[in-house]
Amino acid sequence: MNFADLGFSKEILTAINRAEYQAPYPIQTQAIPSVLKGKDLLGLAPTGSGKTAAYILPILERFLKKSPSKDRSVPVLVIVPTRELAIQVAEVADSFSRFLPRKIKTLAVFGGVSINPQMIKLQGTELLITTPGRLIDLMERGSVSLDKVHTLVLDEADKVLNMGFREELDLILNKVPSKRQNILFSATMDSEIEVLIQSLLKEPVKVSV
Ligand code: AMP
Repeated sequence: MNFADLGFSKEILTAINRAEYQAPYPIQTQAIPSVLKGKDLLGLAPTGSGKTAAYILPILERFLKKSPSKDRSVPVLVIVPTRELAIQVAEVADSFSRFLPRKIKTLAVFGGVSINPQMIKLQGTELLITTPGRLIDLMERGSVSLDKVHTLVLDEADKVLNMGFREELDLILNKVPSKRQNILFSATMDSEIEVLIQSLLKEPVKVSV
């Protein structure tokens, strides 16, 4: 199996090639065709499996056909538990995006640092990667709108819940449109995540490594 078999356009295949990814990892082979089709996805995969590219690449693919918006409504929201993961996901997105005909505007935001520079940078952001608490701060300040979110990713969902972000998640989920694609990755499964999956995902395709 190679990346060309998964349904990507020439532009994305060129970016993958230039980022020097030789062949898809198993989680990518399993997940990418469904994500490209717009289906909800439940992925059971740990860090190091290549889960980030499994959702970032199809998301970038969908952006290629769209012109950028200039306002504060983000179309793609990636929720992560920690600052470190936010930065890592943004780096993966940028590592492909810089080889695309149009660079997708990606921003990682997280708590523990000054909010003002993040508020300024949010304008025109297409792919927002955020920890739950900081996103709520930004929403309350009117710096970001979730009215037009068409794709929602919850990465390391088990860690998000273990860190006690359930309430913040509910606040966020109340603000996104009901018609959207949902992608959830978790390294582990328990009853609390099952409940979240039931409320978040619609007829998800399940993949695991
Ligand atoms: P992740 O599990 O998303 O944190 O990815 C783990 C590491 O694998 C990251 O450094 C990625 O850049 C790298 N990676 C992911 N997919 C591939 C691939 N198909 N070929 C080579 N490296 C990859």
